Amino acid sequence: MGREAGLPLPYRWQQPVNHIQEGETAMKKKILIVEDNPQNMRLVEMILRAKNYTLLRATDGQEALDVARGGRPDLILMDIQLPKIDGLEVTRRLRKTKAFRRIPVIAMTAYAMKGDKEKAIEAGCDAYLSKPINTRELPRVIAEMLRQRQKVKA
Ligand code: MN
Repeated sequence: MGREAGLPLPYRWQQPVNHIQEGETAMKKKILIVEDNPQNMRLVEMILRAKNYTLLRATDGQEALDVARGGRPDLILMDIQLPKIDGLEVTRRLRKTKAFRRIPVIAMTAYAMKGDKEKAIEAGCDAYLSKPINTRELPRVIAEMLRQRQKVKA
C-alpha cells in the first residue's frame, strides 16, 4: 500500500518538477516529421530544432505508422507523396486508433492541385501547407495547432 507505481520510494523525489510558464508549456513537444525528400527533411528539421521541439522522423508511410505508434508524438507533419503508403492513407489509418484520433496532423504537398486540401481534410488532416515550405508560416501553424490542442485538453 502507498507504493506508487511500484517504484522504490526515493526515486519519486528525483523526478523533475515542471515549472509552467505563462504562454508556453514546460514540457518539450514532440513532433513527427514524415518526409521522403532529404532536402525538405533537413529544412524542416532545421526550422523546428530552432524552436526547441523534440523531433522524430519517418521517410515512408510504413515507417510513419511505426514511429507514430512507438513514439507518441504531440503533432505530425505529414508529407502526402510518400513511398509505400501515402500520407493520406497513413493519416486515415492513424485516425482509426483512439490514441491518434485528435493529434494534430498537418499535411504538406508539393503539387498544390485543386482538391488536394479537401482530400487532406477528408483523410483526417487538420491543416494543409503547400510546398515549398514557408519557413515562417510552418512554425506559426505548428505552434497554433499545439496551442489549440492544449486548450481542448484543459
Ligand atoms: Mn514526398
